[in-house]
Amino acid sequence: MSIADNLKRVQDTIAEACARAGRDPAAITLVGVSKQQPPGAILEAVAAGLRHIGENRVEEGREKLPLVAAGSDCRLTWHMVGHLQSRKAKEAAALFDVVQSVDSLRLARRLSRFAGERGRGPLQILLEMNVSGEASKYGFAGYNWANDEARKDALWQALRECRALPNLKVVGLMTMAPYDAEERQIRRVFADLRELRAALQSALAAPLPVLSMGMTNDYPIAIEEGATMLRVGRAIFGERSY
Ligand SMILES: *Cc1c(COP(=O)(O)O)cnc(C)c1O
Repeated sequence: MSIADNLKRVQDTIAEACARAGRDPAAITLVGVSKQQPPGAILEAVAAGLRHIGENRVEEGREKLPLVAAGSDCRLTWHMVGHLQSRKAKEAAALFDVVQSVDSLRLARRLSRFAGERGRGPLQILLEMNVSGEASKYGFAGYNWANDEARKDALWQALRECRALPNLKVVGLMTMAPYDAEERQIRRVFADLRELRAALQSALAAPLPVLSMGMTNDYPIAIEEGATMLRVGRAIFGERSY
């Protein structure tokens, strides 16, 4: 199967999930996650219509972005989706259009500072939420907030502070479901993120249009649970070469 075939199949699967959920496929943004894939593979996907590209490491973005830009005239939107250390905030702000993995206020503050210096308008960010509570996951503690006043305050305050930073635009929330969990558990995580978004939106009158959730193993479920952005790697690009 070529990358163009894979992309078509993913788009068909998105359309089917949307039909089941009574949703409009046009309301869903597909981000192709190209980590550990060569620039040529990204260019194939771009030629087949992909416009949003995700990388999970600043170093890889630094190498691949210029090569992809040189190979295509298309206006692409680059997303940082992996854990980002604060000391790499400057380069991330220079390279990427969207940082989906903002998981601390410290990182948000540094991104704001460097987004101001890059002179391309505000950097879009998503706040990454650890909804499942797994110790291995990055993100703000986004679980059990309904029963824990302190945790809820911390979350509400994090969003308030990020929204007040000058060079960032907080557009939504991102999460990752547990890997290899049962469908019921995965669905619960996605529904939890949707409910957290609704609570934050109404408490802070903060529009958070983007719900980034769903990867190769679970994106149809994510669509059924309200995802507006999917991050799909292997289903488009094939297995990664480690
Ligand atoms: C790798 C990765 C993806 C894509 O994973 P696939 O299973 O290849 O679809 C999505 N989001 C993040 C944060 C990733 O690191």
